[in-house]
Amino acid sequence: MPDRMPLIVGPPRPARTTVYTRGMLSTPLRFLRACRRRCPNCGAGPMTVRWFRLMPACPGCGLRLDRGESDYFLGAIVFNMAFAEGLFALGVFGLLLWTYPSPPWDALYYGGIAGMIVAPIVLYPYSKLCWLAFDLGFRPPRPEDFAARPTG
Ligand SMILES: [Zn+2]
Repeated sequence: MPDRMPLIVGPPRPARTTVYTRGMLSTPLRFLRACRRRCPNCGAGPMTVRWFRLMPACPGCGLRLDRGESDYFLGAIVFNMAFAEGLFALGVFGLLLWTYPSPPWDALYYGGIAGMIVAPIVLYPYSKLCWLAFDLGFRPPRPEDFAARPTG
């Protein structure tokens, strides 16, 4: 028996241009990645260029964040409002419980207005990435969802 086995070299493989993963990730993992402003599909990131601007495609897996649809983030608007209103409801309920029986109505009124202005701004990138995480659960990534990466 020889000391070393001969190295078997096969034909060169074509360069891989996209990482295609079927939507087998768990829902909590996708949402956790979205809440960290990372790609819900592969975890690469951060996916924000600026606070109000996402990258067009994931640098890790190449998933196009709008999945090739011009109106893709309409669902993110719903998520944004639902998250903001949910925070508002939790805040009001918590403050009412904390200060019962004499809640500070003026603070609730003005704080609620300020909160409903600030919360959608703060939640903007998270709502978009959470929408993507939500959508990937129902529509797993297809090959056409991945942007072609330059080959070098
Ligand atoms: Zn990715």
